[in-house]
Amino acid sequence: MLPRVPVQPRSIEPYRPIAGDEVIDEILALGKELSGARVAHINSTAHGGGVAELLYTQVPLMRNVGLEADWFLVEGDQDFFTITKYFHNALQGMELPITGEMKAKYLAVCEENAADFDREFDFVVVHDPQPCAMIAALEGTVYRKAKWIWRCHIDTTYAREDAWDFIKPYIDLYDGAIFTMDAYIKSPIEVGYLAFIPPSIDPLSAKNIIPEQRVQSDIARRYGVDETRPIMLQVSRFDPWKDPLGLVDCYRMVKEKHREVQLVYLASMADDDPEGWHYYERTADYSAGDPDIFLLSNQQGIGNVEVSAFQAMADVVLQKSLREGFGLTVTEAMWKRKPVVAGGVGGILLQVDDGVNGFLVESTGEAAEKVSLLLESPATAQRMGEAGHDKVRRNFLCTRHLRDYLRFFRLLARE
Ligand code: UDP
Repeated sequence: MLPRVPVQPRSIEPYRPIAGDEVIDEILALGKELSGARVAHINSTAHGGGVAELLYTQVPLMRNVGLEADWFLVEGDQDFFTITKYFHNALQGMELPITGEMKAKYLAVCEENAADFDREFDFVVVHDPQPCAMIAALEGTVYRKAKWIWRCHIDTTYAREDAWDFIKPYIDLYDGAIFTMDAYIKSPIEVGYLAFIPPSIDPLSAKNIIPEQRVQSDIARRYGVDETRPIMLQVSRFDPWKDPLGLVDCYRMVKEKHREVQLVYLASMADDDPEGWHYYERTADYSAGDPDIFLLSNQQGIGNVEVSAFQAMADVVLQKSLREGFGLTVTEAMWKRKPVVAGGVGGILLQVDDGVNGFLVESTGEAAEKVSLLLESPATAQRMGEAGHDKVRRNFLCTRHLRDYLRFFRLLARE
Protein backbone atom coordinates (compact mmCIF):
# COMPACT_ATOMS: atom_id res chain seq x y z
CA MET A 1 0.00 0.00 0.00
CA LEU A 2 1.05 3.65 -0.29
CA PRO A 3 2.89 5.17 2.70
CA ARG A 4 0.56 5.86 5.60
CA VAL A 5 0.63 9.05 7.68
CA PRO A 6 0.36 8.44 11.43
CA VAL A 7 -2.10 10.69 13.28
CA GLN A 8 -2.75 11.34 16.97
CA PRO A 9 -6.11 10.16 18.30
CA ARG A 10 -8.84 12.76 18.85
CA SER A 11 -12.20 12.55 20.53
CA ILE A 12 -15.37 14.26 19.34
CA GLU A 13 -16.89 15.00 22.77
CA PRO A 14 -14.56 17.89 23.76
CA TYR A 15 -15.91 19.80 20.74
CA ARG A 16 -19.47 19.77 22.11
CA PRO A 17 -19.18 22.95 24.25
CA ILE A 18 -17.68 24.84 21.29
CA ALA A 19 -19.70 23.53 18.35
CA GLY A 20 -23.01 22.78 20.10
CA ASP A 21 -25.10 19.64 20.64
CA GLU A 22 -26.88 19.62 17.30
CA VAL A 23 -23.84 19.05 15.09
CA ILE A 24 -22.19 16.61 17.52
CA ASP A 25 -25.34 14.52 17.86
CA GLU A 26 -25.75 14.41 14.07
CA ILE A 27 -22.11 13.32 13.69
CA LEU A 28 -22.60 10.54 16.24
CA ALA A 29 -25.74 9.34 14.47
CA LEU A 30 -24.02 9.38 11.08
CA GLY A 31 -21.01 7.61 12.60
CA LYS A 32 -23.31 4.84 13.80
CA GLU A 33 -24.86 4.46 10.35
CA LEU A 34 -21.45 4.35 8.69
CA SER A 35 -19.81 2.31 11.44
CA GLY A 36 -16.86 0.25 10.22
CA ALA A 37 -16.72 1.98 6.83
CA ARG A 38 -13.18 1.87 5.48
CA VAL A 39 -12.00 5.29 4.32
CA ALA A 40 -8.75 6.21 2.59
CA HIS A 41 -7.70 9.83 2.20
CA ILE A 42 -4.93 10.32 -0.36
CA ASN A 43 -2.91 13.48 -0.87
CA SER A 44 0.67 14.43 -1.63
CA THR A 45 2.20 15.80 1.56
CA ALA A 46 2.03 15.34 5.31
CA HIS A 47 3.62 18.75 6.00
CA GLY A 48 2.89 22.30 4.97
CA GLY A 49 -0.22 23.69 3.37
CA GLY A 50 -3.87 23.48 4.16
CA VAL A 51 -4.70 19.91 3.09
CA ALA A 52 -2.30 18.31 5.57
CA GLU A 53 -3.64 20.63 8.25
CA LEU A 54 -7.20 19.42 7.57
CA LEU A 55 -6.36 15.72 7.49
CA TYR A 56 -4.59 15.73 10.87
CA THR A 57 -8.01 16.51 12.34
CA GLN A 58 -10.51 14.84 10.00
CA VAL A 59 -8.84 11.41 9.94
CA PRO A 60 -8.71 10.87 13.73
CA LEU A 61 -12.21 12.31 14.22
CA MET A 62 -13.60 9.93 11.58
CA ARG A 63 -11.96 7.09 13.52
CA ASN A 64 -13.32 8.32 16.79
CA VAL A 65 -16.92 8.21 15.54
CA GLY A 66 -16.63 4.65 14.22
CA LEU A 67 -15.12 4.71 10.73
CA GLU A 68 -11.86 2.97 9.82
CA ALA A 69 -10.14 6.01 8.36
CA ASP A 70 -6.56 6.20 7.12
CA TRP A 71 -4.38 8.72 5.32
CA PHE A 72 -1.93 7.80 2.55
CA LEU A 73 0.55 9.74 0.45
CA VAL A 74 1.34 9.48 -3.23
CA GLU A 75 5.04 9.23 -3.93
CA GLY A 76 6.90 10.97 -6.70
CA ASP A 77 10.29 12.41 -7.55
CA GLN A 78 11.19 16.09 -7.74
CA ASP A 79 10.16 16.23 -11.43
CA PHE A 80 6.70 14.93 -10.59
CA PHE A 81 6.13 17.60 -7.93
CA THR A 82 7.50 20.30 -10.22
CA ILE A 83 5.00 19.20 -12.87
CA THR A 84 2.09 19.00 -10.43
CA LYS A 85 2.93 22.49 -9.10
CA TYR A 86 2.90 23.61 -12.73
CA PHE A 87 -0.57 22.05 -13.14
CA HIS A 88 -1.65 23.70 -9.90
CA ASN A 89 -0.51 27.09 -11.20
CA ALA A 90 -2.17 26.57 -14.60
CA LEU A 91 -5.39 25.43 -12.90
CA GLN A 92 -5.33 28.65 -10.90
CA GLY A 93 -5.03 30.59 -14.16
CA MET A 94 -1.32 31.15 -14.80
CA GLU A 95 -0.33 31.30 -18.46
CA LEU A 96 1.62 28.04 -18.53
CA PRO A 97 1.30 25.64 -21.44
CA ILE A 98 1.21 21.99 -20.47
CA THR A 99 3.39 19.83 -22.67
CA GLY A 100 2.84 16.24 -23.76
CA GLU A 101 5.99 15.28 -21.89
CA MET A 102 4.62 16.69 -18.64
CA LYS A 103 1.35 14.84 -19.09
CA ALA A 104 3.17 11.57 -19.79
CA LYS A 105 5.36 11.89 -16.70
CA TYR A 106 2.36 12.81 -14.52
CA LEU A 107 0.36 9.81 -15.75
CA ALA A 108 3.31 7.44 -15.36
CA VAL A 109 3.77 8.43 -11.69
CA CYS A 110 0.02 8.14 -11.05
CA GLU A 111 0.17 4.63 -12.52
CA GLU A 112 3.12 3.69 -10.30
CA ASN A 113 1.19 4.85 -7.26
CA ALA A 114 -1.91 2.99 -8.42
CA ALA A 115 0.20 -0.18 -8.67
CA ASP A 116 0.93 0.18 -4.92
CA PHE A 117 -2.75 0.60 -4.08
CA ASP A 118 -3.64 -2.84 -2.79
CA ARG A 119 -6.27 -2.47 -0.07
CA GLU A 120 -10.03 -2.44 -0.38
CA PHE A 121 -12.00 0.50 0.99
CA ASP A 122 -15.57 1.73 1.02
CA PHE A 123 -14.63 5.36 0.33
CA VAL A 124 -11.48 6.76 -1.22
CA VAL A 125 -11.10 10.55 -0.98
CA VAL A 126 -8.45 11.88 -3.35
CA HIS A 127 -7.29 15.41 -2.59
CA ASP A 128 -6.23 17.84 -5.31
CA PRO A 129 -4.68 17.21 -8.73
CA GLN A 130 -1.50 15.36 -7.69
CA PRO A 131 -3.13 11.92 -7.17
CA CYS A 132 -6.22 12.64 -9.32
CA ALA A 133 -5.39 10.37 -12.29
CA MET A 134 -4.60 7.30 -10.18
CA ILE A 135 -8.22 6.22 -10.53
CA ALA A 136 -7.78 5.61 -14.27
CA ALA A 137 -5.20 2.90 -13.64
CA LEU A 138 -7.51 1.16 -11.17
CA GLU A 139 -10.58 0.96 -13.42
CA GLY A 140 -11.87 -2.62 -13.57
CA THR A 141 -10.00 -3.74 -10.44
CA VAL A 142 -11.50 -4.71 -7.09
CA TYR A 143 -10.16 -1.42 -5.63
CA ARG A 144 -12.51 0.53 -7.85
CA LYS A 145 -15.49 -0.96 -6.00
CA ALA A 146 -15.07 1.75 -3.37
CA LYS A 147 -16.86 5.04 -3.86
CA TRP A 148 -14.15 7.35 -5.18
CA ILE A 149 -14.44 11.04 -4.38
CA TRP A 150 -12.25 13.81 -5.77
CA ARG A 151 -11.79 16.71 -3.37
CA CYS A 152 -10.63 19.93 -5.03
CA HIS A 153 -9.00 22.46 -2.70
CA ILE A 154 -7.76 24.94 -5.25
CA ASP A 155 -9.36 27.97 -6.88
CA THR A 156 -10.03 26.81 -10.45
CA THR A 157 -12.30 29.76 -11.33
CA TYR A 158 -9.78 31.03 -13.88
CA ALA A 159 -8.22 27.70 -14.83
CA ARG A 160 -6.44 27.64 -18.14
CA GLU A 161 -8.55 25.67 -20.55
CA ASP A 162 -5.84 23.17 -21.53
CA ALA A 163 -5.08 22.38 -17.87
CA TRP A 164 -8.77 21.91 -17.03
CA ASP A 165 -9.38 19.87 -20.21
CA PHE A 166 -6.48 17.61 -19.27
CA ILE A 167 -7.66 16.92 -15.73
CA LYS A 168 -11.43 16.84 -16.38
CA PRO A 169 -11.64 13.34 -17.96
CA TYR A 170 -10.05 11.97 -14.77
CA ILE A 171 -12.49 13.90 -12.55
CA ASP A 172 -15.31 12.43 -14.64
CA LEU A 173 -14.28 8.92 -13.59
CA TYR A 174 -15.09 9.62 -9.93
CA ASP A 175 -18.33 8.69 -8.19
CA GLY A 176 -18.45 12.03 -6.41
CA ALA A 177 -16.65 15.36 -6.27
CA ILE A 178 -16.37 18.02 -3.61
CA PHE A 179 -15.55 21.63 -4.39
CA THR A 180 -15.46 24.59 -2.04
CA MET A 181 -17.50 26.75 -4.41
CA ASP A 182 -19.66 26.22 -7.48
CA ALA A 183 -17.63 28.82 -9.43
CA TYR A 184 -14.63 26.44 -9.38
CA ILE A 185 -16.29 24.05 -11.85
CA LYS A 186 -15.04 25.34 -15.20
CA SER A 187 -17.21 23.14 -17.38
CA PRO A 188 -19.84 20.53 -16.48
CA ILE A 189 -18.34 17.42 -14.92
CA GLU A 190 -19.91 13.99 -15.12
CA VAL A 191 -19.62 12.70 -11.57
CA GLY A 192 -22.76 11.19 -10.05
CA TYR A 193 -22.70 13.28 -6.89
CA LEU A 194 -21.47 16.74 -6.24
CA ALA A 195 -21.10 18.65 -2.98
CA PHE A 196 -19.91 22.12 -2.06
CA ILE A 197 -18.11 21.93 1.24
CA PRO A 198 -15.82 24.62 2.61
CA PRO A 199 -12.83 23.56 4.69
CA SER A 200 -12.48 24.24 8.39
CA ILE A 201 -10.19 24.75 11.35
CA ASP A 202 -9.77 22.67 14.47
CA PRO A 203 -10.41 24.88 17.52
CA LEU A 204 -8.67 22.34 19.77
CA SER A 205 -5.45 21.95 17.80
CA ALA A 206 -2.18 23.52 18.93
CA LYS A 207 -2.54 25.87 15.96
CA ASN A 208 -5.74 27.35 17.31
CA ILE A 209 -5.31 27.34 21.07
CA ILE A 210 -3.90 30.71 22.07
CA PRO A 211 -0.65 30.34 24.04
CA GLU A 212 -0.36 32.12 27.38
CA GLN A 213 0.85 35.71 27.33
CA ARG A 214 4.23 34.67 28.75
CA VAL A 215 4.74 32.12 25.96
CA GLN A 216 3.75 34.71 23.35
CA SER A 217 6.30 37.16 24.74
CA ASP A 218 9.03 34.49 24.76
CA ILE A 219 8.30 33.68 21.14
CA ALA A 220 8.36 37.35 20.08
CA ARG A 221 11.68 37.81 21.87
CA ARG A 222 13.16 34.65 20.34
CA TYR A 223 12.59 35.99 16.83
CA GLY A 224 13.46 39.62 17.63
CA VAL A 225 9.92 40.94 17.11
CA ASP A 226 8.83 43.80 19.39
CA GLU A 227 5.37 42.88 20.64
CA THR A 228 4.78 46.39 21.99
CA ARG A 229 4.86 47.77 18.44
CA PRO A 230 2.19 47.09 15.76
CA ILE A 231 2.46 43.81 13.88
CA MET A 232 1.13 43.06 10.40
CA LEU A 233 1.15 39.29 9.87
CA GLN A 234 0.77 36.94 6.93
CA VAL A 235 1.05 33.17 7.33
CA SER A 236 1.50 31.43 3.97
CA ARG A 237 3.64 29.19 1.88
CA PHE A 238 5.97 31.19 -0.38
CA ASP A 239 3.85 30.97 -3.49
CA PRO A 240 3.08 33.49 -6.22
CA TRP A 241 -0.66 33.30 -5.45
CA LYS A 242 -0.02 34.52 -1.90
CA ASP A 243 1.59 37.66 -3.39
CA PRO A 244 4.58 37.94 -1.04
CA LEU A 245 6.08 40.89 -2.93
CA GLY A 246 2.76 42.73 -2.91
CA LEU A 247 2.66 42.14 0.82
CA VAL A 248 6.05 43.83 1.25
CA ASP A 249 4.82 46.76 -0.88
CA CYS A 250 1.70 47.01 1.26
CA TYR A 251 3.82 47.07 4.43
CA ARG A 252 5.98 49.84 2.95
CA MET A 253 2.92 51.95 2.20
CA VAL A 254 1.63 51.46 5.74
CA LYS A 255 5.09 52.23 7.13
CA GLU A 256 5.06 55.71 5.56
CA LYS A 257 2.36 56.66 8.03
CA HIS A 258 2.96 54.18 10.84
CA ARG A 259 6.71 54.24 11.39
CA GLU A 260 6.57 51.65 14.17
CA VAL A 261 4.86 48.89 12.18
CA GLN A 262 6.56 45.51 11.68
CA LEU A 263 5.83 42.83 9.07
CA VAL A 264 5.98 39.19 10.10
CA TYR A 265 5.69 36.58 7.33
CA LEU A 266 5.52 32.97 8.50
CA ALA A 267 5.95 30.27 5.91
CA SER A 268 6.08 26.52 5.95
CA MET A 269 8.00 24.82 3.21
CA ALA A 270 5.73 22.06 1.90
CA ASP A 271 7.25 18.82 0.54
CA ASP A 272 5.11 19.00 -2.60
CA ASP A 273 5.95 22.64 -3.34
CA PRO A 274 9.38 22.95 -4.97
CA GLU A 275 8.76 26.65 -5.77
CA GLY A 276 8.90 27.62 -2.10
CA TRP A 277 12.63 28.41 -1.89
CA HIS A 278 12.62 30.37 -5.10
CA TYR A 279 9.87 32.68 -3.86
CA TYR A 280 11.45 32.84 -0.42
CA GLU A 281 14.68 34.14 -1.95
CA ARG A 282 12.86 36.65 -4.12
CA THR A 283 10.99 37.97 -1.10
CA ALA A 284 14.14 38.05 1.03
CA ASP A 285 15.99 40.02 -1.68
CA TYR A 286 13.06 42.36 -2.07
CA SER A 287 12.89 43.13 1.63
CA ALA A 288 16.63 43.10 2.31
CA GLY A 289 17.94 45.67 4.73
CA ASP A 290 14.68 46.34 6.54
CA PRO A 291 15.08 45.27 10.19
CA ASP A 292 11.30 45.43 10.70
CA ILE A 293 10.54 42.69 8.17
CA PHE A 294 10.70 39.16 9.59
CA LEU A 295 10.58 36.26 7.13
CA LEU A 296 10.44 33.12 9.23
CA SER A 297 9.78 29.50 8.35
CA ASN A 298 9.64 26.02 9.80
CA GLN A 299 13.42 25.96 9.19
CA GLN A 300 13.75 28.46 12.04
CA GLY A 301 11.48 26.49 14.31
CA ILE A 302 8.14 28.03 13.35
CA GLY A 303 5.59 25.38 14.28
CA ASN A 304 1.95 25.40 15.34
CA VAL A 305 2.52 27.13 18.67
CA GLU A 306 4.59 29.90 17.07
CA VAL A 307 1.98 30.44 14.33
CA SER A 308 -0.77 30.66 16.92
CA ALA A 309 1.27 33.04 19.10
CA PHE A 310 1.98 35.42 16.22
CA GLN A 311 -1.65 35.30 15.12
CA ALA A 312 -2.62 36.23 18.69
CA MET A 313 -0.03 39.03 18.85
CA ALA A 314 -0.83 40.53 15.44
CA ASP A 315 -2.74 43.78 15.15
CA VAL A 316 -3.89 42.98 11.63
CA VAL A 317 -3.68 39.68 9.74
CA LEU A 318 -3.28 39.86 5.98
CA GLN A 319 -3.91 37.30 3.30
CA LYS A 320 -3.00 39.14 0.15
CA SER A 321 -3.91 36.20 -2.06
CA LEU A 322 -4.51 36.58 -5.78
CA ARG A 323 -6.16 33.13 -5.89
CA GLU A 324 -7.24 31.09 -2.88
CA GLY A 325 -9.24 27.85 -2.76
CA PHE A 326 -10.00 28.62 0.88
CA GLY A 327 -7.54 30.40 3.16
CA LEU A 328 -7.26 28.40 6.35
CA THR A 329 -5.00 31.13 7.68
CA VAL A 330 -7.84 33.65 7.32
CA THR A 331 -10.15 31.48 9.38
CA GLU A 332 -7.42 30.79 11.97
CA ALA A 333 -6.93 34.54 12.42
CA MET A 334 -10.66 35.24 12.65
CA TRP A 335 -11.01 32.55 15.30
CA LYS A 336 -8.37 34.46 17.29
CA ARG A 337 -10.54 37.58 17.00
CA LYS A 338 -8.26 39.34 14.55
CA PRO A 339 -9.47 41.64 11.80
CA VAL A 340 -8.27 40.40 8.42
CA VAL A 341 -7.41 42.26 5.25
CA ALA A 342 -7.59 39.77 2.41
CA GLY A 343 -7.68 39.58 -1.37
CA GLY A 344 -11.31 39.38 -2.50
CA VAL A 345 -10.83 36.13 -4.43
CA GLY A 346 -11.97 32.51 -4.38
CA GLY A 347 -12.91 30.99 -1.03
CA ILE A 348 -12.00 34.19 0.80
CA LEU A 349 -15.32 35.56 -0.47
CA LEU A 350 -17.07 32.95 1.68
CA GLN A 351 -14.87 33.64 4.66
CA VAL A 352 -14.75 37.43 5.00
CA ASP A 353 -17.74 39.76 4.96
CA ASP A 354 -16.36 43.06 3.77
CA GLY A 355 -16.62 45.73 6.44
CA VAL A 356 -18.07 43.31 9.00
CA ASN A 357 -15.31 40.96 10.08
CA GLY A 358 -12.50 42.24 7.88
CA PHE A 359 -11.89 43.89 4.55
CA LEU A 360 -11.80 42.42 1.05
CA VAL A 361 -9.31 44.26 -1.13
CA GLU A 362 -8.53 44.41 -4.84
CA SER A 363 -5.13 46.09 -4.77
CA THR A 364 -2.01 46.64 -2.70
CA GLY A 365 -2.94 50.29 -2.17
CA GLU A 366 -6.37 49.34 -0.90
CA ALA A 367 -4.83 46.75 1.43
CA ALA A 368 -2.49 49.39 2.88
CA GLU A 369 -5.39 51.79 3.36
CA LYS A 370 -7.41 49.20 5.30
CA VAL A 371 -4.44 48.13 7.43
CA SER A 372 -3.84 51.79 8.35
CA LEU A 373 -7.51 52.23 9.21
CA LEU A 374 -7.39 49.23 11.54
CA LEU A 375 -4.17 50.40 13.19
CA GLU A 376 -5.77 53.80 13.81
CA SER A 377 -9.02 52.41 15.18
CA PRO A 378 -8.51 49.62 17.71
CA ALA A 379 -12.25 49.69 18.44
CA THR A 380 -13.03 48.82 14.81
CA ALA A 381 -10.37 46.11 14.90
CA GLN A 382 -11.88 44.63 18.04
CA ARG A 383 -15.46 44.75 16.75
CA MET A 384 -14.43 43.05 13.52
CA GLY A 385 -12.42 40.46 15.43
CA GLU A 386 -15.43 39.52 17.56
CA ALA A 387 -17.65 39.26 14.48
CA GLY A 388 -15.02 37.06 12.80
CA HIS A 389 -14.83 34.67 15.74
CA ASP A 390 -18.58 34.26 15.71
CA LYS A 391 -18.65 33.62 11.96
CA VAL A 392 -16.03 30.88 12.29
CA ARG A 393 -17.90 29.23 15.16
CA ARG A 394 -21.07 29.11 13.09
CA ASN A 395 -19.56 28.04 9.77
CA PHE A 396 -15.99 26.89 9.68
CA LEU A 397 -15.25 24.46 12.50
CA CYS A 398 -13.99 20.94 11.84
CA THR A 399 -17.19 19.48 13.28
CA ARG A 400 -19.35 21.03 10.53
CA HIS A 401 -16.78 19.78 8.03
CA LEU A 402 -16.84 16.24 9.43
CA ARG A 403 -20.65 16.23 9.38
CA ASP A 404 -20.62 17.28 5.71
CA TYR A 405 -18.18 14.49 4.80
CA LEU A 406 -20.29 11.91 6.61
CA ARG A 407 -23.49 13.15 4.96
CA PHE A 408 -21.79 12.84 1.57
CA PHE A 409 -20.54 9.32 2.35
CA ARG A 410 -24.04 8.29 3.35
CA LEU A 411 -25.46 9.71 0.14
CA LEU A 412 -22.95 7.75 -1.94
CA ALA A 413 -23.39 4.58 0.11
CA ARG A 414 -27.13 4.57 -0.62
CA GLU A 415 -26.62 4.52 -4.36
N1 UDP B 1 1.13 27.13 8.09
C1 UDP B 1 1.92 26.76 9.15
N2 UDP B 1 3.13 27.32 9.32
C2 UDP B 1 3.60 28.26 8.49
C3 UDP B 1 2.81 28.64 7.38
C4 UDP B 1 1.56 28.04 7.20
O1 UDP B 1 1.52 25.92 9.96
O2 UDP B 1 4.72 28.74 8.72
C5 UDP B 1 -0.22 26.56 7.97
C6 UDP B 1 -1.30 27.61 8.19
O3 UDP B 1 -1.45 27.89 9.56
C7 UDP B 1 -2.51 26.95 7.53
C8 UDP B 1 -1.87 26.15 6.39
O4 UDP B 1 -0.47 26.04 6.69
O5 UDP B 1 -3.13 26.07 8.44
C9 UDP B 1 -2.03 26.89 5.07
O6 UDP B 1 -3.31 26.68 4.60
P1 UDP B 1 -4.03 27.70 3.61
O7 UDP B 1 -5.38 27.13 3.31
O8 UDP B 1 -4.03 29.07 4.20
O9 UDP B 1 -3.10 27.73 2.31
P2 UDP B 1 -2.50 26.58 1.34
O10 UDP B 1 -1.09 26.40 1.78
O11 UDP B 1 -3.33 25.35 1.51
O12 UDP B 1 -2.59 27.18 -0.02
